[in-house]
Amino acid sequence: MTLTPIIGLEIHVQLKTKSKMFCRCDNSGENQPPNTTVCPVCLGQPGTLPVANRQAIAWSAMAALALNCEIPAISKFDRKSYFYPDLPKGYQISQFDQPIGLRGFLEIETKDGLKKISINRLHLEEDAAKNFHSVDGKNTLVDYNRSSTPLMEIVTEPDLRAAAQAKTFVQELRLIMRYLDVSDADMEKGHLRCDANISLTDQLADKIDYKKLSPKTEVKNINSFRAVEKAIEYEIKRQTELWQEGQAPKIQSTRGWNEDKGVTEEQRTKEEASDYRYFPEPDLPPINFTPGAANGFDLKKIKASLPELPQDKRKRFIAEYGLTVENARILIEDKNLAAYFEQAISELRAWLISLDETEGTQAEIWEKNKAKLAKLAGNWLLNKLLAVSPQALENVAPENFAEFITLIHGNKINSTIAQKLLEKMVQTKKDPSVILDEEGLDKGVEQKDIETIIDQIISQNQKEVEAYKQGKTTLLQFFIGQAMRQTKGQADPETLKNIITGKLNN
Ligand code: ZN
Ligand code: MN
Repeated sequence: MTLTPIIGLEIHVQLKTKSKMFCRCDNSGENQPPNTTVCPVCLGQPGTLPVANRQAIAWSAMAALALNCEIPAISKFDRKSYFYPDLPKGYQISQFDQPIGLRGFLEIETKDGLKKISINRLHLEEDAAKNFHSVDGKNTLVDYNRSSTPLMEIVTEPDLRAAAQAKTFVQELRLIMRYLDVSDADMEKGHLRCDANISLTDQLADKIDYKKLSPKTEVKNINSFRAVEKAIEYEIKRQTELWQEGQAPKIQSTRGWNEDKGVTEEQRTKEEASDYRYFPEPDLPPINFTPGAANGFDLKKIKASLPELPQDKRKRFIAEYGLTVENARILIEDKNLAAYFEQAISELRAWLISLDETEGTQAEIWEKNKAKLAKLAGNWLLNKLLAVSPQALENVAPENFAEFITLIHGNKINSTIAQKLLEKMVQTKKDPSVILDEEGLDKGVEQKDIETIIDQIISQNQKEVEAYKQGKTTLLQFFIGQAMRQTKGQADPETLKNIITGKLNN
């Protein structure tokens, strides 16, 4: 029996608007003393009226567009009724049948290439407050600061087939939220919360009939990317064992992820959706995306405000600069880092086309050199500059970093000196040419001098040359060592190695 995991995700993203979803309370209550960012509206007092936060709606529409969703012209809020101490109104204002976004998708990188994960919907709702249970289990205290914080809920179709895919999906989603600048999307702080629905099927993996799936298990309380992967892996293993014993789940259930024990634990069987008694929120007007509607939202304007999204930027970095997939991935992971890189590149371009010795049009000159410069800049940025200190990016302006790259590119400094120079740049915030002057850092050894030195070493050590040619290749290190000594350590070892190998194999 071959079992295929069927995984879908429900992700809540807290929006970092200034005020809450339906009142003017400060939305940064997580950093304030308990129950200080509250008012009669978010405390659910009778007779109060909610007013929808327009920023939250515009951001949700922007997120929906970024996730390739359709945005229906009219969307509305509904009441979802249930009782819990952290929900003082006895209902949550959410969206039921007319959400802001529908039928979207997000492409993720999997081990078998790009995979399109369909998104069922994106809707906007308010968060509940937060319960704190005392250690002895006798008391529960409620902090209402979080009550009515704007939340986007994103529901995928059950298109994911492995725990690793789910993790990648959540990571990609977080990145998009950060690029859109609508949420800090920090999982550990609960700005991004993920529930996973998991079932197994013995149907053929490429012809799954979704109507014939067995009841799913919903895993809640997943608080980190690692937990997304671990919890789903655990659940797949647990359900596989049940199937093998002929005990495949017959009813839908909810389980919680226990991080300490590394297991999921049974919580309750799920209420049907109809138990929530959804009905349209009578105190809020519908959301109108019709062009020109009074009090509506201008979708064209929202679309125009979309920044370049991480996936597009990743593809562009690879295509435009010839970066490796891995380097492009790391650069894009942090939007500030990506911006830093691009700024350095544009400085390099300006520098390159200002050189008068080059011929051709500016575009041609750039085309010819950009891959080499981008590779150099990418490697020195990721492998060296970031390793110097956590303040490296703050202390080295992109234009100074670009100038530094031009020194390497023009063979003005070797890599040993470059490393020292880079460290000085981070320490002093000065530009590289100033440091070179001040510190008297040698600008390295000229290529022709290196050749002369190496020719000399070869002619003085004929016995070793013979032995090398006979196959004693470990002698290469001896020649490099000799050359290093004679150039007083100022030549680049890699350059030395290349020249020596070339001459010895001649
Ligand atoms: Zn309030
Ligand atoms: Mn929800």
